[in-house]
Amino acid sequence: MAIDDIFIKAFQSHRQQGDLFHHDSHKAHELFQSSTIGALMEGVYDGEVTYEELAKHGDFGLGTFNALDGEMIAFDGKFYQMKSDGKASPVAPSAKTPFAVVMFFDPTVKVLWEELTDWAHFQQAVDKAVPSKNIFYAVKVHAIFDHIKVRTVPRQQKPYPPLVEVAKRQPVYVHEGVRGTLVGFRFPDYAQGLNVPGYHVHFLSLDRTAGGHVLDFRMRDATVEIDVTSDLHMEVPECGDFLDADLGKDQSEAIERAEKEQ
Ligand SMILES: [Zn+2]
Repeated sequence: MAIDDIFIKAFQSHRQQGDLFHHDSHKAHELFQSSTIGALMEGVYDGEVTYEELAKHGDFGLGTFNALDGEMIAFDGKFYQMKSDGKASPVAPSAKTPFAVVMFFDPTVKVLWEELTDWAHFQQAVDKAVPSKNIFYAVKVHAIFDHIKVRTVPRQQKPYPPLVEVAKRQPVYVHEGVRGTLVGFRFPDYAQGLNVPGYHVHFLSLDRTAGGHVLDFRMRDATVEIDVTSDLHMEVPECGDFLDADLGKDQSEAIERAEKEQ
């Protein structure tokens, strides 16, 4: 069976059982988002939310740090910071974030896939299987990566440049033959400006030493877990640069370039 069909079968069986959504444990599947991707695109790189505060809303997710000091990944209750040297280390609870998305991950769909799959095909396969592109999906993948290309944004100095400028000079790292974990989300196209439409995924190696924002990969022996949710709780800053940022324009092209370009 092709990976596409395996995903379709997995989603269909949960739809038939009626347990795709978790009506019983509502709060457990609530996505919590601090600020917006639109604000980050505009150079709003300082937030007031600490990781200690963020952890109350979830222990699984992704984001960044004040001054855009690297990429964040969280899973299994632990938060990691991947700085511009590509190295990972645990996050101090006092560290702050200008943008993060977290949840308490409790997957409904689990798929095992041994054969080689690349990033584009993986996205297509999940897209074909999901019951709707208008709700939210959290994705966790554990696999062997024959090849994975990641970037880590470098710490910025004020006055902050827009993210699309930072992305032009971002350090990119390629890892080969490494076991590790992907954590991320699929947001609907209508989330444009609030979050990254489509897939946004971060990577951490199994030895917890390296990772970043994922640009491309080839993986095999994958365990894919997906949490389906319709709950999104967003809090935006009440002070700082966010209040004066111009967030009314169409940023779809800039988001595409800053977050997805390989
Ligand atoms: Zn990212």
